[in-house]
Amino acid sequence: MDLLNTLVDKGLRRELPTRDEALAVLATSDDELLDVVAAAGKVRRQWFGRRVKLNYLVNLKSGLCPEDCSYCSQRLGSKAEILKYTWLKPDEAAGAAGAGIAGGAKRVCLVASGRGPTDRDVDRVSKTIEAIKNEHKDVEICACLGLLSEGQADRLRAAGADAYNHNLNTSEGTYGDICTTHDFSDRVDTVRQAQAAGLSACSGLIAGMGESDTDLVDVVFALRDMDPDSVPVNFLIPFEGTPLAEKWSLTPQRCLRILAMVRFVCPDVEVRLAGGREIHLRTLQPLALHLVNSIFLGDYLTSEGQAGQADLEMIADAGFEVEGADTTTLPEHRRDAGSGCGSHEGASASGCGSQQSACAPCAAEPEPVAASAAAARTDLVAVRRRGVGTDLPPNA
Ligand code: SF4
Repeated sequence: MDLLNTLVDKGLRRELPTRDEALAVLATSDDELLDVVAAAGKVRRQWFGRRVKLNYLVNLKSGLCPEDCSYCSQRLGSKAEILKYTWLKPDEAAGAAGAGIAGGAKRVCLVASGRGPTDRDVDRVSKTIEAIKNEHKDVEICACLGLLSEGQADRLRAAGADAYNHNLNTSEGTYGDICTTHDFSDRVDTVRQAQAAGLSACSGLIAGMGESDTDLVDVVFALRDMDPDSVPVNFLIPFEGTPLAEKWSLTPQRCLRILAMVRFVCPDVEVRLAGGREIHLRTLQPLALHLVNSIFLGDYLTSEGQAGQADLEMIADAGFEVEGADTTTLPEHRRDAGSGCGSHEGASASGCGSQQSACAPCAAEPEPVAASAAAARTDLVAVRRRGVGTDLPPNA
């Protein structure tokens, strides 16, 4: 297929595909799916081999957010019966992080609900970073605290944070449909602040919120323009008690096409399979490892993932290997760019930050996949009831 040969060639050269080529990937048929995965897999292996980086989420502060992001179980007015608690103490957070690190995670993502941190919150998180790094000096720490005010990114960097996560989530054109309390440009601004402070930028998307193929391509191209080091791809977890509870529009095949498209547009970037993988990819999860080079281990912020041990077995069974702390994630040419995680030897799922037929590249834009194409699998959505904020151990 000419399209796939072209995309592989471009991916191996780190060349940006056209928007039409990205749209054409989303429009491929189920008959072509394995060819699409194999093609994007070549690009993935060129830049990341068969390594899988493990990341571990610690929800520092859960629920009670004043913002109204419609996909989020922690939003203003959410009726989702999630855990609600205020800031964890540094030693509690360090204990939770230690469980993930023991399970193989080389990055810990410290996430807090809310519009953005106060300066006092930045102090708290700084103490938490110190507590974790005292015990695990090589671990990468990514903070995800919402919109940043001036100077806060510098303070987090000085405290030892390696990265900052803030997702764009969806296209600029549809951002107002998913949130009214802040806008797309606020999010871009925070990612830029993080980069300016020398933090490695992590910014991604949520698929499955009713967006069109054009919206998906728009947000992935917007991400590429910002040049983050990592791009988490979330698939919407339609929580009961949120406005998007009925939004079951993803099939496993659609998820794989989305991941392949992201890989072609961001060939040498850490593409991370994030929240919703278990409920939407289901038994096809191992195929996604041919596209992404990074996943979250164990549970998410407010929902349960599969057991960390099952993640490790899946990686081994699929012929991949967990990336060690002594391996640098990003390819050498990106490390020279001087941004956070790439230069250190050594991210709902990610909340705020913190979800046809073969078609030539010049084909007309395809229609979005109909909602009826996917089955509602509410039986697979489990509110997190273990790990931090509970008396039960985590599942890492
Ligand atoms: S995504 Fe973040 S800012 Fe939006 S409602 Fe959830 S916790 Fe609040």
